[in-house]
Amino acid sequence: MNIICKRCKYETTEISNMYRHLQRKRVCQPLFSQASPSELLQEFKQYDKSEEDYNGNKVFKCKYCEKIFYSRSSKCNHQHICSGKQYYEKIQLLTLRNKELEEKDIKRELEFNKLKNDLIKIKELLANYN
Ligand SMILES: [Zn+2]
Ligand SMILES: [Zn+2]
Repeated sequence: MNIICKRCKYETTEISNMYRHLQRKRVCQPLFSQASPSELLQEFKQYDKSEEDYNGNKVFKCKYCEKIFYSRSSKCNHQHICSGKQYYEKIQLLTLRNKELEEKDIKRELEFNKLKNDLIKIKELLANYN
């Protein structure tokens, strides 16, 4: 996934490059956006979602599970697999739910048929009664 500078459309895949880009002495031209480099920096830092552990080390949390990593790249590697896993689990869950609903439908149909039969019986009873 590419990280893009709103000001000049500079692109990079590494957030550290973007930090360097925004912290240069001769900052890029605001061709596409008037946002200041410090504003953008703040935005990217939020996006980067690094946090600190008890020892003050920079840590990176997977956005799908609670796993913590000490480098952005290992987090990204994991997150890639993790998102696939989450997707797979979601599909499994949906399949299960679908099956449950189907079973409910069958039950409902059985119930409906039973009621229909009961109704026929009652009609016959009433016919005989008349
Ligand atoms: Zn730029
Ligand atoms: Zn994960």
